[in-house]
Amino acid sequence: MGRRPLFGSGGRDERHDQGFVERVAEDFEPFNINVTTDIKVYLAAPATSRQRCCFTDTPVTAAGVAYIGSWNWGSDTPCWSVYTTGKNGAEVGAHEPGHTLGLGHETQEIPNGSGGTTHVEYFAGQGSGATGWAPTMGVGYYDQVSSWSKGEFQYASNFQDELNNIVTANNNVAYRADDTGSTLATRVFWKYIPTTRPLPKGSSSGPATRMHFNSPQRADKWCC
Ligand SMILES: [Zn+2]
Repeated sequence: MGRRPLFGSGGRDERHDQGFVERVAEDFEPFNINVTTDIKVYLAAPATSRQRCCFTDTPVTAAGVAYIGSWNWGSDTPCWSVYTTGKNGAEVGAHEPGHTLGLGHETQEIPNGSGGTTHVEYFAGQGSGATGWAPTMGVGYYDQVSSWSKGEFQYASNFQDELNNIVTANNNVAYRADDTGSTLATRVFWKYIPTTRPLPKGSSSGPATRMHFNSPQRADKWCC
């Protein structure tokens, strides 16, 4: 199975905002999805397993827009983000392709004290500072950590298992091959320096590696 590009350029010079692309790439790190800004890489992927996300200053109807499930349509139907840089661009740059992979919003139904509930379409997260968290398919702008979710928060009303959906909903996507052992003997030495390559499996010295969060079933170990 090949790797699955997502093209996110919109004519900008990505070299001046590499952190933005890195953030999007981290969101898709559990999967065999290749986040790229190179159109040649994108076009080399199967038409039925790729998604272009266009970043534009031209307003659309919301912060972004996407068709649910378009990832495998084979029509190169794009999704859109109106944020073109930084944290906000990265959040929309993951959220909209998330829709194309079949994901809905992380919603809440909050009791209103009158026997009913108040609907929240986009859960905006919990906590603060370094550990503040929000689901990518809610609103991730305001918290430093965002991730795929399955409704692990108070009053959640959408329990779609997003990780599982991405790899099972006819997207021709799978979890990335495990790159880290599950025992101390097969651990990977970890220091986070984003621009370097992963160490070979089992290495315990040398230049730093980047950390891959793999599928939830795996019990990876790192030494740092
Ligand atoms: Zn959305």
